[in-house]
Amino acid sequence: MKEEEFEDDKPEEIKTVKAKTAKEMKAMYRPVFRKTPEKYYPTKVFSKFNYTRNECKCGTIYWRRVEARDTCGDSGCVGKYSFIGKGFGKGAKGQKITYVDAWNSYKETMGK
Ligand SMILES: [Zn+2]
Repeated sequence: MKEEEFEDDKPEEIKTVKAKTAKEMKAMYRPVFRKTPEKYYPTKVFSKFNYTRNECKCGTIYWRRVEARDTCGDSGCVGKYSFIGKGFGKGAKGQKITYVDAWNSYKETMGK
């Protein structure tokens, strides 16, 4: 009995909890995103700009307008950062769309 009492008095064991990386979290929630993408991504905006949802060889779901592209654009899949400085496509008026343009369009779509 004495030994058990001693055990109870021991301070709680401190366990190191490793935080999940962004990549691990994405992997965890990927199935949820895939099921209801419209809840997490501005899918209507993408559709408006004629983007389609595609799956990369690495399993990443991405949006594309250029039909010839077959990767998600991740540097590991493309081999370089092709996105930076270029925007990711062309808008209705033929201008390049940047992330900011897409976001502004998303805000407009969602109303005030
Ligand atoms: Zn990929």
